[in-house]
Amino acid sequence: SEIIAKYEVMERVGSGAYADVYRGRRLSDGLIVALKEIHDYQSAFREIDALQLLQGFPNVIVMHEYFWRDDEDAVLVLEFLRTDLATVIADAAKDNRPIPPGQLKRWMIQILSGVDACHRNMVLHRDLKPSNLLISENGLLKIADFGQARILTEPGFDDSNNHEEYSRDIDNEDTSTNTHDGNATCTTSDINREDEENELGCFTSCVGTRWFRAPELLYGSRGYGLEVDLWSLGCIFAELLTLQPLFPGTADIDQLSRIISVLGNLDESVWVGCSKLPDYGIISFSKVENPAGIEACLPNRSPDEVALVKKLVCYDPAKRATAMELLNDKYFNEEPLPVPISELPVPL
Ligand code: ADP
Repeated sequence: SEIIAKYEVMERVGSGAYADVYRGRRLSDGLIVALKEIHDYQSAFREIDALQLLQGFPNVIVMHEYFWRDDEDAVLVLEFLRTDLATVIADAAKDNRPIPPGQLKRWMIQILSGVDACHRNMVLHRDLKPSNLLISENGLLKIADFGQARILTEPGFDDSNNHEEYSRDIDNEDTSTNTHDGNATCTTSDINREDEENELGCFTSCVGTRWFRAPELLYGSRGYGLEVDLWSLGCIFAELLTLQPLFPGTADIDQLSRIISVLGNLDESVWVGCSKLPDYGIISFSKVENPAGIEACLPNRSPDEVALVKKLVCYDPAKRATAMELLNDKYFNEEPLPVPISELPVPL
């Protein structure tokens, strides 16, 4: 086919829910690229659509071109990026070596710039996590994997199909969802709904995704917006600060129960309107008298760092700071200043 005429396909470097990724070489000039073969029409269409809108932004992955093969499969030719933020965090954690604040700030600024580019173009990524933040050998961080992205065209976005898909890949492997810890109760209608979703999905996805899911999604919201990415961002920043996931839930109910034990109960006093979330009355938790607070999750971190995470990890989506607001936060203009990109250590 056309692509074979232009690229040499080399070894496979990764595979995910719907995609296989290969290293490739452009025959005309030897440029090394990533060839991402996507086997699902929806997901291919979404990724192409979103990436086309986002070309030219330094913190979003470059798509050189793409090919459709028959009606279902697409191959995206992407810039080849050697590593990702999950590896940066894992390496630092392995050596028990916190990331110095100047480096932390530079990673954060790059993530915020990428998310700001998405959000300005009304692209909701929906799957932000360290392994989807790819890094070049020069330390440039790029947002990747737009297979779950949506472009919000109208305000009052309400896309119910969308929600089903979004939750089903996460719930899919989750047979433990129905074994709740003592703290939570769940009615049979909820369990049935989850079973239906399980039947729809016959693939596996990174279970880690759940850890970055906003509470409104965990409560079944269908009218969510860009704020779900901001919650994920808060979880990623906390992980950069502590080298541990903030809310490593083992099932969706456990995910919510971890959030509640830190932030306290979700009720109308913290988020006006939350009781109208589809699953609000279905999933109920016993009263948490003394929530731990975000600061308890960030031991030994400065008040500024705690404040930054708090601006993102809060129940009311409307109260989460936008990427643009955070880019202008004084935290990034205070000592220790962010190091230049060239001084960021990039794992081999
Ligand atoms: P999925 O949506 O299936 O998770 P990803 O886009 O995350 O697909 O890709 C799966 C894996 O392939 C990634 O974890 C990464 O290891 C590798 N990969 C993806 N894109 C690139 C790229 N541009 N350069 C190098 N490796 C990549």
